[in-house]
Amino acid sequence: MANSRFQYVRGFESEARLLPNTWIVVRIDGRGFHKFSAKHGFKKPNDARAINLMNAAAVACMNEFPDIVMAYGESDEYSFVFDKRTQLFSRRGDKIMSSIVSFFSSTYVMQWPQHMVDAEGQPEPLVATPHFDGRCVLYPTLENLRDYVAWRQVDCHINNLYNTTFWTLVLKGGLTEYEAEQRLVGTFSKDKNELLFSEFGINYNEEPLMFRKGSVLHWRRIPVTVTKEGPTSKADPTPVVRTVTRQKLTVIVDHCDLLQEEFWTEHADVFTS
Ligand code: ATP
Ligand code: ATP
Ligand code: MG
Ligand code: MG
Ligand code: MG
Ligand code: MG
Repeated sequence: MANSRFQYVRGFESEARLLPNTWIVVRIDGRGFHKFSAKHGFKKPNDARAINLMNAAAVACMNEFPDIVMAYGESDEYSFVFDKRTQLFSRRGDKIMSSIVSFFSSTYVMQWPQHMVDAEGQPEPLVATPHFDGRCVLYPTLENLRDYVAWRQVDCHINNLYNTTFWTLVLKGGLTEYEAEQRLVGTFSKDKNELLFSEFGINYNEEPLMFRKGSVLHWRRIPVTVTKEGPTSKADPTPVVRTVTRQKLTVIVDHCDLLQEEFWTEHADVFTS
């Protein structure tokens, strides 16, 4: 664009770059999803369809921005961890964060009809506008980064145990929401586990991993076999059908325990301090 006398206002823009060699984490969170989930009849305490939709949007983000090395999701939130050497948007935090939020929100809407289907396979109508806030946080050491994801996974555990107990008291125990809340005041984890087991025969540790641990997204090389047709050499032009196996980087949706060593050992090449 040609220069004009107005051009100087550009100088008011900040181009703040995030510190080099630090882990960039973008965390997004659905705005007002308590209301949004009620309005769309999400099953309580966990609507697996809605979690799968969040996961699908996060997988799409990783494929669009391959510098994301892992992502962790629970409830209406997702954390995206970028390679600490990423040069995406010259490490401009506002561009990185806003692009993730926007891409995630759009994918959530686009994929809603595939995931949010009723028992007859009909999509639930989307009657409100899902939107997400976002923030960028920098973690200077691998220890800080591991503690960050551990913090989110522990949050998932605490919330899920509470919600599972609360909704069991309401849906199976016939308590009102107020009564269930009162019943849980001052209880510890072991009390909730005990309540679920002794009164409802529910072993919390047998609840689905996706609900208890949240979702961990990471890359893995997967062998993919494709059939090719064509000559094998210049000397022999006869077309031959053959299968070729290639290693394709694929996003894996896992529900592993991030407080354990296993995940970090498997990805030691990415997560060096
Ligand atoms: P804020 O705008 O401050 O984030 P919020 O209403 O989104 O407010 P959160 O603390 O983010 O509050 O909690 C998200 C809420 O969304 C949960 O408490 C739960 O009620 C609901 N929710 C999200 N995902 C699901 C799901 N898969 N199944 C059932 N409920 C869900
Ligand atoms: P970047 O990701 O850097 O923003 P970009 O391709 O979006 O790259 P912009 O400088 O933002 O580049 O320009 C947007 C481009 O989108 C325009 O150059 C034009 O080609 C196209 N475009 C946007 N709106 C319209 C429109 N209403 N009709 C036709 N073309 C449009
Ligand atoms: Mg919030
Ligand atoms: Mg929220
Ligand atoms: Mg939330
Ligand atoms: Mg543009």
